Amino acid sequence: MSQTTLVEPKAPLNWTPTLLFLFTFVAAVVLVPWWGITHGFSRGAVAFFAFFTIANGMAITGGYHRLWAHKTYDAHWSLRLFYMVFGAMSLQNSAFNWCSGHRTHHLHVDDVDLDPYSAKRGFWFSHIGWMLREYPSGVPDFTNIPDLRRDKMLAFQHRYYVPLALGTNFGFPLLAGWLVGDLWGTFILAGILRLVWAHHVTFFINSLAHMWGSRPYTDENTARDNPVLAVITYGEGYHNYHHIFAHDYRNGVRWWQWDPTKWLIASLQFVGLTRKLKRTPDFQIQRALLAMQFKRAQDKLARLPTTGRSQIEAVRERIAHEYETFHAAVAEWAKVKEQWLEEKTRAVIEHWEHASFQQQLREIERRLHLQRRRVRVLHAQLA
Ligand SMILES: [Zn+2]
Ligand SMILES: [Zn+2]
Repeated sequence: MSQTTLVEPKAPLNWTPTLLFLFTFVAAVVLVPWWGITHGFSRGAVAFFAFFTIANGMAITGGYHRLWAHKTYDAHWSLRLFYMVFGAMSLQNSAFNWCSGHRTHHLHVDDVDLDPYSAKRGFWFSHIGWMLREYPSGVPDFTNIPDLRRDKMLAFQHRYYVPLALGTNFGFPLLAGWLVGDLWGTFILAGILRLVWAHHVTFFINSLAHMWGSRPYTDENTARDNPVLAVITYGEGYHNYHHIFAHDYRNGVRWWQWDPTKWLIASLQFVGLTRKLKRTPDFQIQRALLAMQFKRAQDKLARLPTTGRSQIEAVRERIAHEYETFHAAVAEWAKVKEQWLEEKTRAVIEHWEHASFQQQLREIERRLHLQRRRVRVLHAQLA
């Protein structure tokens, strides 16, 4: 049987999410302009809309995604409480359900039968369709979240998810509206529009971030890096990087890449709310980038005529030489690292030796940086 025929087109409808997405979407499209024209929105309503939108978004990206699904850092209980409450408010199911599905997504990315929101099943399915019907791929399997199930706060959230979700979605915006003296305006903006916006922004990670953008680190899955998406998704648009280095608390790994979730996690470290932030060693990042560059160069060369063009031949030779240098650097890095670890386990390492190993590793990393630039120039000559 071919892969696509296994997709079940007539799975039974999931009424609750279908009606929820439908009603909130229609309500936002109708009520926001209508109320805006007839009553206008107070500054307080707009401010609470911004606050709840960001709080919901960050609870999903910083909490559900980077803290719980991928364990990229440790967080103080107060921050986890914030994530738990505002995560429930964002109406994307309990952290148990969300993280279990997401771990399955990473493990079986793109598989049409096993990835719960496989982009290979099209935009609609990966964006929202996967939640509207009871597809076999969407059935939660909590065997992949034993660590989270031991967490009492998350168990509480899972157990009382419905009252928590209803309480926060009605209670917070109404309370905020009462505080600023604009009950309905605040409810429409910070309650309804906020929910619809927060939903679709997250859903874009599963749909657009697997379709639109570049693949600088790996082309073994559909995940893309997309700076435009990163702006509206609090940094999650660097999805190609994320799929290859999912245990890194950063998605936009370069300092200038727009990743507010990374900045939040890193800055909360200074006040003791986050710790043990996991970073992928620069060497591994450079290695992935270079490996992709070589792969692309080889693909390009394979399409060009094999003989007769001396310039192409020269580039071909230089790329082959760079490739050898690259492999030598990878082997050298592994060797230095191994020596360092050996010395460390024998506990004989002196402070200055430690520094010297670090320096050696950094030197190899620096060489890879330079090499990437050279290979980029060679690439340009093939264009
Ligand atoms: Zn993904
Ligand atoms: Zn992820």
